[in-house]
Amino acid sequence: MFSFLRKPSHQFFLAVCPTRCSRFASSSGPVMAGPSEQQRQGLTSLNVTFLGTASAQPSSTRNHSALAVRLNSDIWLFDCGEATQHQLQKSTLKMGKIEKIFITHTHGDHIFGLIPLLASCMNGAGGIAGENCDDPRKRVDLNIPPLEIYGPLGTRAYVRSGLQYTHTLLGRPYVVHELRFPSDPEDQDFTTLSPSLAELPTGKNIAMEDGVWPEIYKDNVVSVSAAPILHSVPCVGFVVQEAPVAGKINSKDYIPQLKRTNTPMSVMRQLQQGESVTLNDGTVLHGPPRRPGRKLCILGDTYDPSAIIPLAKDANLLIHEATNAHLPGVDLTTKETDTYETVEERAKSRGHSTPQMAGSFAKTIQAKSLVLNHFSARYPGDDSELSLKIMAAIGKLAEQEFGKEVLCARDFTSFDITFKE
Ligand SMILES: [Zn+2]
Ligand SMILES: [Zn+2]
Repeated sequence: MFSFLRKPSHQFFLAVCPTRCSRFASSSGPVMAGPSEQQRQGLTSLNVTFLGTASAQPSSTRNHSALAVRLNSDIWLFDCGEATQHQLQKSTLKMGKIEKIFITHTHGDHIFGLIPLLASCMNGAGGIAGENCDDPRKRVDLNIPPLEIYGPLGTRAYVRSGLQYTHTLLGRPYVVHELRFPSDPEDQDFTTLSPSLAELPTGKNIAMEDGVWPEIYKDNVVSVSAAPILHSVPCVGFVVQEAPVAGKINSKDYIPQLKRTNTPMSVMRQLQQGESVTLNDGTVLHGPPRRPGRKLCILGDTYDPSAIIPLAKDANLLIHEATNAHLPGVDLTTKETDTYETVEERAKSRGHSTPQMAGSFAKTIQAKSLVLNHFSARYPGDDSELSLKIMAAIGKLAEQEFGKEVLCARDFTSFDITFKE
């Protein structure tokens, strides 16, 4: 369990929201400044920041869905609801550091912010007088690695249409990889529009294997897999898995042997990485075995994410929606005729979950911690007494099923994922 979960929620927000209301320096830095896929540095920090936690309608305290995962300084976005770029501007996250964008499903509250975000962070230009003129804004710098977008069928067509019909020209390349369900066409782009210069033709259509999309992205440090989760439209959950990391080393176990054999202390680095070292006298020292890396399970909207269980087991962090809750005596708008059962039934019929469903799923996958998001507009994410009371009650409902403390995210809630239990 992370230390933040032990704090009362109001203290938590004060303690871990340094990003709130602070502006970042520039919205238009180099967009793909991150290391190439083969050279990513080991993760010294792994952080999540909720940029939007609303369900259907945004409010003054909750924006539409978006979540930033920071791997060292590189940013991966999960969903990009309307005004996500405004949320980024209110945070310390740098838009120019966005390397990849993962879309869970193409409902507007998860994707409406994508086109304006691309225009802002990829030097987008508007209409240019004279179709045939040689305007530098019509050029795409193909030397820059593309911003990679992953999403279900329709993501590529949505981006292509949105850019073309708004006459938006991007100065940098992007590529869209689609996760194709078995009922989807294996190829085709789902649009008759031709790709623009900025859209690379290397976008993959990724077929399922054994009910999941294994390792849709992988480098030396981290991989991403996905699985279908049940919602009212095709929807995907993502699992971000850090590669195994060095085990804990106790130098006292090794140093006497190294001194005895006059072995340079620099071999400690090899031992730290779990390698074996042969000393001058033939003794072989073995470094501690590597231990599993951190795992994040990020779900889109869902009333049943069971298909992701094989990928999500033992996640350090599960992020699960909790759109509908039954809060008699706490939520004063609760209908007298409602029971938990009717609320759950309504939630499921609209493709959503209750806090209890989220807590139960967290227990099923033996998650180490659970954070809820995607709340009804009836539940503001502010510091008013009533809001705090309602969110605490929602958290409690999930805790009853999960058996551990649960956090209800607010916009700009931000914390590090550590190895601590
Ligand atoms: Zn939604
Ligand atoms: Zn949805």
